[in-house]
Amino acid sequence: MEEVKEKNITNKTVVITGASRGIGAEIVRLLAMENYNIVLNYNKSENEAKQIQEDLLKQNKKIEIFKADVSKREEVKQLIDFTLKKFKTIDVLINNAGISQTKLFTDILDEDWNKMLQTNLSSVFYCCQEVLPIMINKKDGCIINISSIWGITGGSCEVTYSTAKAGVNGLTKALAKEVGPSNIRVNAIAPGIIKTEMNSYLTESEKNEIKEEIPLNKIGMPIDIAKCVKWLIEDKYTTGQIISINGGWYI
Ligand code: NAP
Repeated sequence: MEEVKEKNITNKTVVITGASRGIGAEIVRLLAMENYNIVLNYNKSENEAKQIQEDLLKQNKKIEIFKADVSKREEVKQLIDFTLKKFKTIDVLINNAGISQTKLFTDILDEDWNKMLQTNLSSVFYCCQEVLPIMINKKDGCIINISSIWGITGGSCEVTYSTAKAGVNGLTKALAKEVGPSNIRVNAIAPGIIKTEMNSYLTESEKNEIKEEIPLNKIGMPIDIAKCVKWLIEDKYTTGQIISINGGWYI
């Protein structure tokens, strides 16, 4: 009861990257219902971002949207400055933006490698570095990185993606140790397969084959990840963990 009361009054501020679609958009919707102040970052999908904002504003939620390519340090700075201007502080950072690529290792170009590492790994470095001084200053904060099962197990024909996500896992663990004494928690969620546009290239028969490999026999939904994000924000004693939500695909 105490906690519910506090949640409705506190209005903590969350910045979430790449939240115009898929998992990020679902996290936004769930956290908005919990009355967080939200800054939704998008890059290309402006219409989708505006639609989410419009829907939530109608429900009297506090949400701002901001276009930034988080693979670029300068644009990350602008995103954080914008958030501070709107909401004065940042309590939670969710590094969710990501791209995927399926290619034979021998076909990977330098451009593919660089784009993947910049978008899926350097973005996490930039966002954490820009936000941490604020969190360290108030000795409170929560960072959640959306990684992937492939960062743990490695995915065939997804070497660039697996490498970047393994980097996210390493960053998560090391940073958790470094900023724990400042009361900042850093965790990652490593989803298995979740129903979003990222997997739209899979045929029905490929999806069925994957389902057969998953003990719970189904593909996850964005809400499965959003619920874990909410729990990680509320919990106060979990840090440095890579939580794989995958239906038992990898145990
Ligand atoms: P999605 O539906 O393809 O959405 C990706 C999001 O990332 C979009 O909102 C996109 O924004 C944003 N984004 C991409 N590049 C960006 C950039 N440079 N700057 C800012 N935003 C950028 O993918 P999703 O499935 O929701 O994936 C979300 C996260 O979960 C990713 O990190 C992904 O690796 C991870 N994940 C997904 C799965 C899965 O099965 N779906 C499994 C494991 C991990 P715009 O459209 O506005 O550019």
